Amino acid sequence: MLVLNAALCLKLTRAHPLVRTTFTAAELYLLIENHSGYSLPFFLCNAAPFGLVTGAREHALHHQLGTVHFAAHFAHFDWLLARFLARGKRSTSSDCKVA
Ligand SMILES: [Zn+2]
Repeated sequence: MLVLNAALCLKLTRAHPLVRTTFTAAELYLLIENHSGYSLPFFLCNAAPFGLVTGAREHALHHQLGTVHFAAHFAHFDWLLARFLARGKRSTSSDCKVA
């Protein structure tokens, strides 16, 4: 589904064939990396700093639980959502103490 959406967006934006080819190759590589079940040293998830790129471990958890690691490749929105949810839980618990 992710690949179909990406292909549709590339078609709608009339992306240059070189951009389509590069994007498709990069997307397929990342999908294979995520579904391989391995975490090899040269994988992007291990090469990118600050844990910005998710790997097979996180993607396997996503498939097992279905409630975590929604980002297919980049983890910044998952990180932001986790901080937002944690902040909501903290404010809810403090509200309980006041009441
Ligand atoms: Zn998957």
